[in-house]
Amino acid sequence: MSYTYPVSMPWLKGRELEYVTEAVSGGWISSQGPYVRQFEEAFAAYNDMPHGVACSSGTTALTLALRALGVGPGDEVIVPEFTMIATAWAVTYTGATPVFVDCGDDLNIDVSRIEEKITPRTKVIMPVHIYGRQCDMDAIMNLAYEYNLRVVEDSAEAHGVRPVGDIACFSLFANKIITAGEGGVCVTRDAHLAEQMAHLRAMAFTKDHSFLHKKLAYNYRMTNMQAAVALAQTEQLDTILATRRDIEKRYDEALRDVPGITLMPARDVLWMYDLRAERSEELRAYLADQGVETRVFFKPMSRQPGYYDANWPSLNASRFSEDGFYLPTHTGLTAQDQEFITDRVRAFYGVL
Ligand SMILES: *Cc1c(COP(=O)(O)O)cnc(C)c1O
Repeated sequence: MSYTYPVSMPWLKGRELEYVTEAVSGGWISSQGPYVRQFEEAFAAYNDMPHGVACSSGTTALTLALRALGVGPGDEVIVPEFTMIATAWAVTYTGATPVFVDCGDDLNIDVSRIEEKITPRTKVIMPVHIYGRQCDMDAIMNLAYEYNLRVVEDSAEAHGVRPVGDIACFSLFANKIITAGEGGVCVTRDAHLAEQMAHLRAMAFTKDHSFLHKKLAYNYRMTNMQAAVALAQTEQLDTILATRRDIEKRYDEALRDVPGITLMPARDVLWMYDLRAERSEELRAYLADQGVETRVFFKPMSRQPGYYDANWPSLNASRFSEDGFYLPTHTGLTAQDQEFITDRVRAFYGVL
């Protein structure tokens, strides 16, 4: 089914085509081309970080970060209940075990419940800035300091939120704040970690190309064509974030007084405009009939077949995933589009 108002669309209004054309016409289409380095530098600089490592997805960015920190079998990583499955999978891919912590009212990991999950095996805390809301990083960094843990931020939904932890990992999938079609990038202030991630990303080749590989690594490289798009998007990031802030304000204003709708706390950057609604299933079906696509919230990790835990009530995450969803949110969404969408929501609850 195709919608008049899809939840997401890439916004490619900068120099994307110019850079891609240059990559293709110059013959540099693999990961060896110059845009990869340029994108890494530009994105790291945007985040006031000295090092950026581009890779093939947000998922592989998380995996590289954990591997660079030495996470492996026998280790535990603290992961939020309420997240996209890739956060937990990245841990599982390394052979380590994700240990889940419920969310608070902002959907982010409840920092007051992290400490009870820390064991002698815990190596890393992996907060996720859900829908563009920054986690309480002061509390997380204090815990990390106290227990000698490392912090990997899953910033897949939060380009523009300043990294605080050891490594921050961003996704560049087509529905994220900025995109390369598919892609990911890690930023860090630690030169050694950056070098490790770059090494693991490219099959742990040695400098002399001897074909002797000292550790199990990956091909998680980003192509020059993807990097061309990612660089053009990074140049537009401030504009994109400002446009999205206006989108957030307009949704807030149009929906604030609608009985049946519960607005969510303000976001630091807008990825998706999330909300909760009474009779949400009915509302979503009604919107779909009107050509408006919506998407439900994430399902709690301990309700996923791969991580199912019957003993874990996961109260908040389950509660939110019952009636939470998000409205179309993308940089090209116009005020008129939003008016149409919010008028339909208001009509559903009889408040036009
Ligand atoms: C999108 C997303 C990912 C995965 O990114 P991909 O680029 O799709 O692999 C990981 N974590 C979160 C929170 C995400 O939203």
